[in-house]
Formats: sequence, structure tokens, C-alpha cells
Amino acid sequence: MIELKNITKVYKRKNTSITALKNVDLKIEKGEIFGVIGYSGAGKSTLIRLVNYLEKPTEGQVIIEGTDLSSYTTNQLREKKKDIGMIFQHFNLLESKTVFDNVALPLVLSKRKKQEINERVNELLSFVGLEDKAKNYPNELSGGQKQRVGIARALASNPSILLCDEATSALDPQTTDSILNLLKKINEEYNITMLIITHEMDVVKQICHKVAVMEKGEIIEQGPVIELFGNP
Ligand code: ADP
Ligand code: ADP
Repeated sequence: MIELKNITKVYKRKNTSITALKNVDLKIEKGEIFGVIGYSGAGKSTLIRLVNYLEKPTEGQVIIEGTDLSSYTTNQLREKKKDIGMIFQHFNLLESKTVFDNVALPLVLSKRKKQEINERVNELLSFVGLEDKAKNYPNELSGGQKQRVGIARALASNPSILLCDEATSALDPQTTDSILNLLKKINEEYNITMLIITHEMDVVKQICHKVAVMEKGEIIEQGPVIELFGNP
């Protein structure tokens, strides 16, 4: 359901250009947890931004649910973006808003009714285990709790795809485990397709079904995690 076909991405600067991705091919099936692993500079963020409509490929096609993204108008893309949730290394929460309001934000932006927003946010907060933190502010939470808020916000619009950009890199190992378990539960209960970008092998081994290894803009290996890296 997410397909990248022969993608090349070149960033042009005044008198130089950087090839961030080169001939990248990958296919992520519905409901799969797909990991992309590589060192800093390998092209992982560029890859996620192509799937999230934030960048256009220089060459090649990004196909989501059978449609080439280049065939959408700007308005259609804006609408399609709601079907993709994203979580970040540094959580990207609004510090001046409560936990409740952070999670409600995507619903407020899409002009849902107040009662519907209340119900949905309370349901999400209880799903991520933060029902008693609704009135707290982000700076009153631990890193793991902040990421749970980020996850609840990302799920608010019922996306079918969740993009995770180094989502556990700022967390200690124990908190990382609990967040990975939550992601696993989301994948199992809602059949959400996940693209997980990481530089940590443990993350791939713990929850990914398939993995692509990136180096200098190219995928050097990809396949089932068990085949590439053995048992966890
Ligand atoms: P990763 O996420 O694996 O660290 P990135 O996709 O961020 O890799 O970067 C891949 C390459 O593209 C790097 O050489 C980086 O410097 C370059 N790059 C990324 N974004 C931009 C940009 N907006 N403009 C110019 N170069 C960029
Ligand atoms: P980080 O460096 O923490 O990984 P990025 O710099 O990659 O974060 O994020 C780029 C910006 O794009 C974010 O600040 C975020 O506000 C915005 N953004 C992109 N896609 C989404 C999305 N699906 N949901 C929320 N915000 C998004």
C-alpha cells in the first residue's frame, strides 16, 4: 500500500547538489511494520518526508493506496495528509497547551464537533494510559509520557499509516520498550501500517516485520527481519 518506485532525490543548492536518495525501491504492505535503518545522513528523513507529502521526488514515483501522489491536486493532498499520522524524536508537543488540547488539535483543525472531540480525546488518552494527565502540560510529563501524548495526537484522525521518525531515540531503554509495546498493540488492534525510521538495531528486532538497510542514499539490503538479522 506504500510503494516507492525508483526514487531519486537531489537537493539543489547554489553551486552544489546532494543526492539524498538514489534508485530507492520499496513496498510496504497494508498492516506491516516496516523499519528503515541506517546511520545519520543515510537518507531516512528524506524518505519519510516523501511519504508524508513534504518533499517531491526528483525522479520516480511515490504510490500510496494505488495512487501516484503526483496525480493529486494541492487540496486533495491536504485531505490525504489526514490519513497519515506522524510521531517525532522530540515529540513536537505544544508546550503552552494541555495534554488534552495537544491531542485534540488535529480534530479542532478539521472542525469536528465539541462533543465528538471530547469523546475521542478521552478514548485516546485512556488507550495510551494517560487518562489522569489530561489537564497537565507537557513540561510536567516524563519523556515516555510525552511520546504517549504524541502517539495519541497522531492517532486522533484515525490514520491508516503511522510514520515514526526516531520515535524512541530520546528515551531510556525501559521507556523505549514500553513505547514499542504500545506501537505493537496499535498495529495489532487497528491494523495500521507503520514506517519506522531508526538508527537502533534493537528497535528493528523488537517490532519490525521487514527492514531496509540504507547507506548513503541507497538501500543496500531489504527483507524480513528474521532473514536479515536472525531471531530477536
Ligand atoms: P538521515 O535522516 O538518514 O540522517 P537525511 O535524509 O536527513 O538522512 O539526509 C540525507 C542527505 O541529504 C544528507 O547528506 C543531508 O545533509 C542531505 N539533506 C537532507 N535534507 C536536506 C535539505 N533540505 N537540503 C539539502 N540537503 C539536505
Ligand atoms: P524532528 O526533527 O523532531 O524529527 P521534523 O523536523 O522532521 O521533526 O518535523 C518537521 C515538521 O513537520 C514538524 O515540526 C511537524 O510540525 C511537521 N509535520 C510534518 N508532518 C506532520 C504530521 N503528519 N503531523 C504533524 N506534524 C507534521
